[in-house]
Amino acid sequence: MHPLARMLGALLCAVPLLAQSEPAPIDYAAERAAIGRFQDADQRLQDVGWQLARGNAGICLRTVPSVGLQLQDMASYGVPAIARRALGLTGDFAVQTAARGSPAALSGAFTRNREIVRLERFDPNLWPAGKAMDWQRLVTAHDHIDAMLAEHGGITVGFADGSAARLQPVEVCATRFELMGAGDKAVADGNRVVIGIEFPAFAYDEPVFAGVVAHELAHNVLGHDAWLDANGRSRKHVRRTEREADRLMPWLLANAGYDPAAARTFMTQWGSKHDAGLLMVRKHDGWDERAEFIAAELPLIASLMAREGRADWAVHFRREIDPAGGLARLRKR
Ligand SMILES: [Zn+2]
Repeated sequence: MHPLARMLGALLCAVPLLAQSEPAPIDYAAERAAIGRFQDADQRLQDVGWQLARGNAGICLRTVPSVGLQLQDMASYGVPAIARRALGLTGDFAVQTAARGSPAALSGAFTRNREIVRLERFDPNLWPAGKAMDWQRLVTAHDHIDAMLAEHGGITVGFADGSAARLQPVEVCATRFELMGAGDKAVADGNRVVIGIEFPAFAYDEPVFAGVVAHELAHNVLGHDAWLDANGRSRKHVRRTEREADRLMPWLLANAGYDPAAARTFMTQWGSKHDAGLLMVRKHDGWDERAEFIAAELPLIASLMAREGRADWAVHFRREIDPAGGLARLRKR
């Protein structure tokens, strides 16, 4: 199932779908609060994801132009009419998040839940949608924004109040960050990083939380999914890719302006409590070993930051898989 479907299934699920003789009253304030909690966590994820993807854009092999804008579509809720009323919308599309420091955020126009009626020439509200839990239309809207940015170097977004904002993109590493409304998993599939809202690190300090986002982003920028597809997902292979993702965490953090040592803090803080959980599952080393592998990267990162102002992992990171070809493929120049 697409994570958005799972996310939205978790919200608004207690609401009766069919009218009864005496329908239960709907608590719109509670619905709005539930959506707000999800949006708070999503904002945190998008802020950190943006900082990492933007800070490493000069090194990532695959980059895309982006404005850091995420929309929401009422059609993806279990009962769109209730979500619409809870958020005070007439139509279905509105701002979900504008990532901190992104062109969307810097414009000042993209406040949460602000209603949107135009993406360049199209009104996404007119695109057909299913009656409920339709996540595909939102994906289409985001794909449309990305296509406009890639092909036309910008996009004009129109609001329900008649005003509009023109956005011009900047380059970021090509990964989308998505929050899942249930579960405590963190996964990367090559194009996306998906993190469950119950992942414990949401409560950590930002640079430490950024550690887990960096771990998942590392899988994407190092091409692990494709490599495992090509070479097989044996336990040995998975363990090597996991170790690479751990070791790259502090590099990605450093280039994003975070303290690279926060990666080790993450592994210690999270691993000492949850070591039977998700990132481990016997395909990993123990959390204390993992913290040591991370720490071992710190001196090289510090010297590169001092000398070059960035930690160019495409050049200096020691691969554990496919050492010759892997590095060559990562080089941009
Ligand atoms: Zn991993």
